[in-house]
Amino acid sequence: MSYVFPPSPTVSVPVVGTPARFPVHRIYCVGRNYEEHAQEMGHSGREPPFFFMKPADAIVVVEAGQTATLPYPSLTRNLHHEIELVVAIGTGGRDIAVDQVLRHIYGYAVGLDMTRRDLQNDMKKQGRPWCIGKGFDHSAPIGPITPAAALPGIHQADIRLQVNGTLRQHSQIDRLIWNVAETIAQLSSAWELQAGDLIYTGTPAGVAAVVPGDTLVAEVAGLTPISLTVR
Ligand code: MN
Repeated sequence: MSYVFPPSPTVSVPVVGTPARFPVHRIYCVGRNYEEHAQEMGHSGREPPFFFMKPADAIVVVEAGQTATLPYPSLTRNLHHEIELVVAIGTGGRDIAVDQVLRHIYGYAVGLDMTRRDLQNDMKKQGRPWCIGKGFDHSAPIGPITPAAALPGIHQADIRLQVNGTLRQHSQIDRLIWNVAETIAQLSSAWELQAGDLIYTGTPAGVAAVVPGDTLVAEVAGLTPISLTVR
């Protein structure tokens, strides 16, 4: 096999407790999966959540103990943070039943679904796809993945995001509208999940803008926190 130019390198995320890395296949995202966030976006919070995607190479890896750089993207004047629990799939499948989900999960990480909110809102108004608002370069920061076996309390964990030391988003994972098992069951009815898929499970209320110079610290209890400075 030869290629007309070298193929892109595999995007990968560090794993806690091993030098081996998690190779990324796809990034799925859940929209409006916390009631108070749906409400702050102008919805009742009673509609079912839904899915969109980001390209795998939108990942920004934040290594443990380091502060990564988050490049301020083009075209926007309203770059929003959305802290999210990320589920890493270790075993693929389709039409996965809720009670079978656990064996498909490799682990969990802290992620940010960065959003060009002004462009997303323009697209919503026009009934056009969200790609330009959601799927841009550097839009998917993520920290190291912790294997699921080490995280018995993850489904009740505290989730919080600070900007320059001020708390902006704070909730608990058990307030998800579709919990992790239901999200994976739903997702696997629409796409065949593969080892290496990441699922950004949705953000709680408190989304707001960041500007160059801001430092974001995102934490989910039990997981490696992430820190990024916007440049
Ligand atoms: Mn989101």
